[in-house]
Amino acid sequence: MIYPIVKYGQEVLGRVAQPVTVFDEALEKLVADMFETMYAAHGVGLAAPQIGISRHLCVIDTSVGEQSGSKLVLANPVIVSTGGRQVNEEGCLSLPDFRADTVRPLHATVRAQDVHGREFTMSGEGLLARAFCHETDHLNGVLFIQHLSALKRESIKRRIKKLQKAGEW
Ligand SMILES: [Zn+2]
Repeated sequence: MIYPIVKYGQEVLGRVAQPVTVFDEALEKLVADMFETMYAAHGVGLAAPQIGISRHLCVIDTSVGEQSGSKLVLANPVIVSTGGRQVNEEGCLSLPDFRADTVRPLHATVRAQDVHGREFTMSGEGLLARAFCHETDHLNGVLFIQHLSALKRESIKRRIKKLQKAGEW
């Protein structure tokens, strides 16, 4: 099932999500739906709050479905270490058509649980490190525009306000 994606301005995106405590078939179905929703939107990551579900859960596939085996499910993820620095264009399915150069660590290590509740630690660099940080941020109510300069952020917010007024957001 493809969920509608919640856009910037909705309260759920600014909230700290609840931990995942039950690893059952319903969670497996939700994860499958999240992948389907993410691929339909051509995204590399999707966090549960982006479909209106305030849970500490996200899915990532930096190959956008091109490579089997690159699907990642992170339940209750925590970034445990970071290193280096990268500046690259970043976007978000909840802020369609807004992209901006965003500073992120070049390397990031995340500790999380898989869909069955098994704990694992994984390190990524480049785009994967960026995805770990971006998606984990979502679960803590943080969007990528909060990493931009105030000037850049306010400019994006103003443009979104105009779109909201015009009924185009
Ligand atoms: Zn996002």
